[in-house]
Amino acid sequence: MRIELDKLEEHGGRFAHVYDVGELSLDDAEVRLVGPVEVSGRVRRDGNEVVLRGKLQAKLEVVCGRCLKPVELPISTGFTERFVRAISWVAEDQHELREEDLNLAVFDGETIEVDDLVREELLLAVPVNVLCGEKCQGLCPVCGIDRNLSNCQCESNELDSRWEKLKELQM
Ligand SMILES: [Zn+2]
Ligand SMILES: [Zn+2]
Repeated sequence: MRIELDKLEEHGGRFAHVYDVGELSLDDAEVRLVGPVEVSGRVRRDGNEVVLRGKLQAKLEVVCGRCLKPVELPISTGFTERFVRAISWVAEDQHELREEDLNLAVFDGETIEVDDLVREELLLAVPVNVLCGEKCQGLCPVCGIDRNLSNCQCESNELDSRWEKLKELQM
């Protein structure tokens, strides 16, 4: 979805879009869309800057950080992103001040690509270590068995001295 600035009122307007699964690619091997993505918000024009403020709702699928099972992750988040025309960005001398502002993007002055913004915000909303459940036992580091489903005999071997040495080396 694109926002064309010349189609907006002088000070801005509203935008809304629903992406079907498959309409938006997240370009991330570990995060998948499993439901439509709803985005809506307001566009505000302020001199050379354009500010998009809105909310996002989506259903993602990620893998459990311990057992690698797929986990559904509903996302509901708000965002504010500022866009600056490429030309004024180049002409400006005060870049040091701006670099701290992570929510600043450069655009061509005519259209804003909302897909990129949505993709970025969705990936940012994924927590670092998602678990299928707080009590997930994870995979056995020795034989790879899913400890939530069955047990193995590796536990007792973990006390093996060679294994202990290996663990020390890894730390
Ligand atoms: Zn798990
Ligand atoms: Zn095992």
